[in-house]
Amino acid sequence: MSLLTILHYPDPRLHQRARPVEHIDPELQRTFDDMLETMYAAPGIGLAATQVGIGLRFTVVDVSEAKDEPQVFINPEIITRAGKCKSEEGCLSVPGYSDTVIRSQQVHVRALNRAGEPFEVEAEELLAICLQHEIDHLDGRLFIDRLSDLKRRRARRQIRRALREAQQDKTGAG
Ligand code: ZN
Repeated sequence: MSLLTILHYPDPRLHQRARPVEHIDPELQRTFDDMLETMYAAPGIGLAATQVGIGLRFTVVDVSEAKDEPQVFINPEIITRAGKCKSEEGCLSVPGYSDTVIRSQQVHVRALNRAGEPFEVEAEELLAICLQHEIDHLDGRLFIDRLSDLKRRRARRQIRRALREAQQDKTGAG
């Protein structure tokens, strides 16, 4: 297994819509493992293929406290939604920034598992938020794209400043 490079905003690949997975082979299954390893190392609770520069519709997720329930969602689709909630989110592709977005409280999601078998999940709480966030990534959308215009402009300024400072730190350190 190996760690993959996570793309950071404003990389234009984060705004591309991913294509459906058409067949699942051992190579793709190795990619699932690499993505899980990358997600655990970050650390994060979800990582979409889009975030590592793969234009296919799948995401890895683990919202368990013990980090021992890895899940792969291939071609995930939200079938139904219920309720609304405020969700405080961050993103591995938008380091150093978090904000509140409005999400559905519950989502019914249909997907294929790592073996290509269909399954459905009635997701609530953290899993519901995480799946909405990751499926957004597959549609080329970041959580900051869900902020109001005013907040989004402020967020972009703040993120650009953080990126510049990180760059200067690197230069300073040689
Ligand atoms: Zn994200």
